[in-house]
Amino acid sequence: MKKHNFYAGPSILPQYTIDKTIEGIKDFAGTGLSILEISHRSKEFVACMNDTIGLFRELLDIPSGYQVLFLGGGASMQFCMVPMNLMEKKAAYLNTGEWAGKALKEARLFGEVVEVASSKEKLFNYIPRNYTIPADADYFHITTNNTIYGTGIKKDMDVKVPLVADMSSDIFSRPVDVSRYALIYGGAQKNLAPAGVTFVIVKEDILGKVTRPISSMLDYRVHIKGESMFNTPPVFAVFAAQQTLKWLKDLGGVKAIQKKNIEKAGLLYDEIERNKLFKPTIADPEDRSLMNICFVMADNYKELEKPFADFAKSKGMLGIEGHRSVGGFRASTYNALPKESVEALVSVMKEFESKN
Ligand SMILES: *Cc1c(COP(=O)(O)O)cnc(C)c1O
Repeated sequence: MKKHNFYAGPSILPQYTIDKTIEGIKDFAGTGLSILEISHRSKEFVACMNDTIGLFRELLDIPSGYQVLFLGGGASMQFCMVPMNLMEKKAAYLNTGEWAGKALKEARLFGEVVEVASSKEKLFNYIPRNYTIPADADYFHITTNNTIYGTGIKKDMDVKVPLVADMSSDIFSRPVDVSRYALIYGGAQKNLAPAGVTFVIVKEDILGKVTRPISSMLDYRVHIKGESMFNTPPVFAVFAAQQTLKWLKDLGGVKAIQKKNIEKAGLLYDEIERNKLFKPTIADPEDRSLMNICFVMADNYKELEKPFADFAKSKGMLGIEGHRSVGGFRASTYNALPKESVEALVSVMKEFESKN
């Protein structure tokens, strides 16, 4: 039976990435060696790194004055690196979910953190609006896609202080006006590559303004100077990211994939609204994520949660359980998920409705 991969992360990769990665494991760039056993300083890998950076620049239309870095440590390490490198006294955070909250908590170790707004009291089921960002904040931190709760900030904000965004789960899902951001970061394992590499897009002139000493490994300037090879980079994951970006470029880039993402998410949200057994957890379509689509059983059908989970699994739908902190269901519809998988899930929901 065909399996449909709705896992939230690590998550589905394009078949192209899987195939090219297998080739690279056997013979990387005609070297006769595996990508798993080659020096990061070899000219072949340096070329791979440079090409991957080039694809980032091209696909996201990154302006000059910005650097692209590939680091270890996951998005979670950026929760520390961002304030360490950017916060002198005060930073502002928008609390839209579990990851946003974790970022905020880490920032408190480095100075005054202003939580400008939070949707915590409503289990993060909306994106707060109408808040004030302190004009003297060193930066304002947002999470553009809330992987666990299924909300998203789908438009680039216009704010007066440097804007920092965790884009772990929606990078490359839509065009981004990078010039509006001082720094964008994310773990690659949602929409780009296997786990192990973290991308950082940073505006160079934002750096070097804090007075605290910064450990070399945590200093963006050190990694810029080392061209992401200050220490051994996650070679394999960078290689896989390069394959995904080639695939995306062939497909027409972020504008083309955005169109597909809107279409896929639309199919599923429509079914959740239509089907009597289910309801969405995010009421306002403006706030609904296009990457992680959350839903629960409708009020009269709560007892069908486990039976639906089992039924869906028996039909090859994998990874649709909601996050352990929320329950219900979450279908992740990342770039690599084909429309056929969404259609298959919709049929399963219809079939389950007709049986109940
Ligand atoms: C998954 C995720 C993280 C955590 O990423 P790690 O690489 O595991 O540290 C952080 N932020 C968001 C939005 C995520 O989806």
